[in-house]
Amino acid sequence: MMKRILLIATGGTIASRYTENGLSPQISGEELLSFVPEAKEFCRTDVISPFSLDSTNVRREQWLDLEKVVEDNYDSYDGFVICHGTDTMAYTAAALSYLIQNSRKPIILTGAQRPIDLPVTDARTNLLDSLRFAAHERAHGVCIVFNGQVIAGTRAKKERTQSYNAFSSINYPPIAVIQEKRIIFYIDDIDQVKDEIVFYHDLNQKVFLYKLIPGSDGKVLKLLLPDYDALIIESFGVGGIPAYEENGIAEALKEWKEAGKMVVMATQVTNEGSDMSVYQVGQTIKDDFDLPESFDMTLESTVTKVMWILSESRDPQELKRLFYKTINHDILFNNNL
Ligand code: ASP
Repeated sequence: MMKRILLIATGGTIASRYTENGLSPQISGEELLSFVPEAKEFCRTDVISPFSLDSTNVRREQWLDLEKVVEDNYDSYDGFVICHGTDTMAYTAAALSYLIQNSRKPIILTGAQRPIDLPVTDARTNLLDSLRFAAHERAHGVCIVFNGQVIAGTRAKKERTQSYNAFSSINYPPIAVIQEKRIIFYIDDIDQVKDEIVFYHDLNQKVFLYKLIPGSDGKVLKLLLPDYDALIIESFGVGGIPAYEENGIAEALKEWKEAGKMVVMATQVTNEGSDMSVYQVGQTIKDDFDLPESFDMTLESTVTKVMWILSESRDPQELKRLFYKTINHDILFNNNL
């Protein structure tokens, strides 16, 4: 039986044309499909377009819209392909990984570095690969398909602004690779999806990401406190907090904790993750404030996971449990609890 796929067109470069003011999304979902006529050989595709944006403008509202489109159409299709701008695709893929859990059907995000109607473009390959992967019996869950790689939705990072290999799979192998018509799985685990699918309908936007630079101090953290429910600190290396006399970060963190807010440690180094137990500048502060840390999770996953868990609970122990729970391959190094 031919697979039924829902193409969800949301804009991005893949669907953009040149205007006086630069590229902007103009190409409809139907037009996108017309560039990959070969897809008719293996799937029947319908199109829906909940919004058409440069992904710079995609945020919580659009993530919840996408969740709803998938939920409303879940029983009618075998798979979903979301065409999306590349700039925030890793965030959307991570957010959808938390909003839609235990899916035995594939929910694929793709896009391109060049518009689909240019003579030289990666768009046609990415779209065709995505449809092919979405039509595969063993594809499942939220993934990004890009430049011949299938990356778990929680493991992607945009690492190149121009090249076709824009995305990397961080601290985790790609799920599969696609070479022409061949799909080679490295992680073939659909049989391990035992739980029922769960759709979530909320995310808490009040999450602030604070990137440390040498000399950062705690003043701004005190100012942010009333407006945010969680603070993620992008620290250096495996993780530490500057603690010299006039710096005041530890003092500000104390106020955040006393106010019942969540504080999470992450690292600004992309690969290999955090481990605050290594250095005194990390271990002391982690113990003093009982700070959860991102370990091998990407920053995109850390941010959207905190948005998700804060919409579920405010109890610190429950928040910590959910934060360290592995969802769509997002964290491996969570066994030190
Ligand atoms: N600015 C574009 C977007 O994210 C870039 C892209 O799609 O590649 O929508």
